Amino acid sequence: MARYTGAVCRLCRREGQKLFLKGDRCYTDKCSIERRGYAPGMHGNARNKKLSEYGLQLREKQKAKRYYGVLESQFRDYFEMAEKKAGMTGENLLSLLESRLDNVVYRLGFAMSRAEARQLVLHGHFTVNGKKVNIPSFMVKTGDVVELKEGSRSLEKFKGSLEANASRVVPKWLEMDKNNVAKVIAEPAREDIDLPIEEHLIVELYSK
Ligand code: SF4
Repeated sequence: MARYTGAVCRLCRREGQKLFLKGDRCYTDKCSIERRGYAPGMHGNARNKKLSEYGLQLREKQKAKRYYGVLESQFRDYFEMAEKKAGMTGENLLSLLESRLDNVVYRLGFAMSRAEARQLVLHGHFTVNGKKVNIPSFMVKTGDVVELKEGSRSLEKFKGSLEANASRVVPKWLEMDKNNVAKVIAEPAREDIDLPIEEHLIVELYSK
């Protein structure tokens, strides 16, 4: 699956807010948003740029894609799946994105960023219900058990990440025990997703 390989800090600067795509660095004063909080490019520093309604909707969609590291066609697929589910399409969309295995690995604190979580999943460090899964877009469902595969449990990398992320709150729809075995206990609800995304703007964009 293709993925964005450019400079990720440019993505934050384009959205005008921190998307936390780089792990540790995002929490330091080396963060590009702290140093250059304007959009990249020749006219990025222009002030008082007023976005059209379409511009606002587009930016919100781009922001959601970038948070989850998903490209356009895959994002569109999630939207179509969200439309088919009962309930609010925008909330369904975020719930589907949140259920990706790479996001779950990030939420549990095994990785410093979603991009790193994606790499760790691709390298086959995790199992779902006892079977190795190396597909970052794998969707977890209620009752699934996610854990490090046996050979990865003693790796310093994971001990370090779990310690560094100890203060990060594991969302209510996931439960992790003292052996770092996690269970999906519910579908992610909108109130469990702490990202500043106005999902109704994405629905409006795709409904044109
Ligand atoms: Fe975004 Fe992190 Fe880069 Fe800051 S350091 S601009 S939050 S990716």
